[in-house]
Amino acid sequence: MSRESELLVLAEAAKGFMPREEGLALFGHALELGARVPQGTWLEVGAWCGKSALYLGAAAEATSSVLYSLDHHHGSEENQEGWEHFDSALVDPADGRLNTLPTWQRTIAAAQLEASVVGLVGDSLIIARHFAQPLDLLFIDGGHALDVARADYAAWTPKVVPGGLLLIHDVFSDLADGGRAPYEIYVAALDSGQFVDVASEGSLRILERAH
Ligand code: SAH
Ligand code: MG
Repeated sequence: MSRESELLVLAEAAKGFMPREEGLALFGHALELGARVPQGTWLEVGAWCGKSALYLGAAAEATSSVLYSLDHHHGSEENQEGWEHFDSALVDPADGRLNTLPTWQRTIAAAQLEASVVGLVGDSLIIARHFAQPLDLLFIDGGHALDVARADYAAWTPKVVPGGLLLIHDVFSDLADGGRAPYEIYVAALDSGQFVDVASEGSLRILERAH
């Protein structure tokens, strides 16, 4: 099996909420960008257990790029007990809090992607304030509460270089399909005039920074 197929098989098997077709679209667009701009700096907001990091990491490895995979690893509001996406297996018995970091580390290590995927453990806005490196690719898939998604958008999108990619996950225009916050920031990106639509797959939107 080629290295690429091996990673895509691992990605599909990883724990998380990334449908196969959307994961393959992440991989494909990242690979295309990396072929155009190798050795890029990429970042995802929202790492969870490393599923999207495997799709993006496969493309990062192939193009000598590095993906920063950012998360405080305590889950979003919707991942907490009593909510829709709660998983009791991810609770740390030491303090009763959700902790996805050990699973994320195992996912990246098992895929031997540690040279291409680097974890950033902490709050998105704190890290953004101290992160000066321009981004060739930004994937926003963090908290889906409206204020959280808006803050991620405001903090991170100015770092995307012209020609760079902005990917947004869980974009549903219909309220019934799940929160509307990712849709709102998608519309904000288009309305800003700085980003243009490139493609979409399921709830994934792929945009490019025009200027
Ligand atoms: N991209 C992942 C899924 C991410 S789920 C995948 O497809 O596999 C959303 C993640 O955002 C959760 O793990 C949660 O802990 C993280 N998150 C939410 N708010 C955050 C914040 N303010 N700072 C850092 N991470 C945050
Ligand atoms: Mg998502």
